[in-house]
Amino acid sequence: MPVAIFTQPFYRLVTDRTDGPPPARVSLSMSLRLVAILLSLVIVPTVAGRTRAVASRIDSLQRILVITAHPDDEVLIAPLLANRCIRGRASCSILVMTTGNAAGLGELRAAEMQQSAALLNLRLTQWTFSDVMADVDAVWAAEAGDRATLIARIAEMIAAEDPDLILTLDPRHGSTCHPAHRAIGQLVLETGATNLFFIETAARFIGDGFDLWNASPRYAWVYAANDDWQYAPRVAEIHATQFTSAQVESLRTVPEMHRRVWFAPSTAPVQLTCDLECAPCLPPSPIATSTTR
Ligand SMILES: [Zn+2]
Repeated sequence: MPVAIFTQPFYRLVTDRTDGPPPARVSLSMSLRLVAILLSLVIVPTVAGRTRAVASRIDSLQRILVITAHPDDEVLIAPLLANRCIRGRASCSILVMTTGNAAGLGELRAAEMQQSAALLNLRLTQWTFSDVMADVDAVWAAEAGDRATLIARIAEMIAAEDPDLILTLDPRHGSTCHPAHRAIGQLVLETGATNLFFIETAARFIGDGFDLWNASPRYAWVYAANDDWQYAPRVAEIHATQFTSAQVESLRTVPEMHRRVWFAPSTAPVQLTCDLECAPCLPPSPIATSTTR
C-alpha cells in the first residue's frame, strides 16, 4: 500500500526557529541529487507510473481534514491544499488545537489563521488549548476533562467531516520535533480514524532559510507543487508574527524542482527521524517501526 516515489531526500531548504518552516536555501549537494533523480527517472520507468498513480489518488480527494497544533503549521502542506481545496473544489476543513498563544500573541495568531484558512478555502475550527512546550498531552487532557474526552472530541470532529484524507503531524517527529506537533499526531492516531496520513515534510530553521526534507523517503507520497508552491510563502506571509520577510522570500524563491509536499499513510514506517534529533528518535507504540532497510 505504501507508495514510494523517490528513494532519497532530494532537496534542502533552510530557518532559525524551532517551530514551523523557513526561507529557502539549496544545499551544495543539490545538483548531484538532481542528477541522480533524473537518471532514476530514465532508468526506472516504474517511478513515473507510481507518480501518476499517486497524482491520480490525490486528484480524487473530495473531503480533506487537516488537524494541526498551531496557526502556521499548515504552511508545510499549503501547496497541496491549494490544489485540492481551491482549484479542486474539495470540501476542506482544518482543526487547529491552539491559538499559538505561548508568547501572548494568541489573538493575533488566531486572526492570521483565519486569513490563511480563507486563502486556502478551508473551514476553520480554532480550539484554545494551551500552547505549551512540555507535557502537552497532559495539559490538553486536563483542559478537556480527561484524555479520553480529548480524543473523543477530536473523533467527533473527524466523524462530522467524514474525510477521505486526514492530514496531521507525525507523532514520531512532528516535522520539527515540536512536542505539540507530536502530541496532536498521537491523539489523532488514537481516535482510530481511517484515511489517516502523516505529514512527512521535515523542517529545520537555519538562519533566514529552511532545511526541508522527506522524513519517510521510501513510503511518502509526494505532491509536486509547481505553481502551487506559491501558497507556501503566501501563507507564511499571512503568519506575519511567525515568519520574517527574509524567511518568506526564501520560501518564495525555492526552485521549481524542489517544490514538494510529502505525506505518508499512518501505518508506513519512517526513516531519518533521528535527523531531527527528536527524543526518542524512534516511534512510540502503537506505530510499527522499520528502520532496517
Ligand atoms: Zn507548530
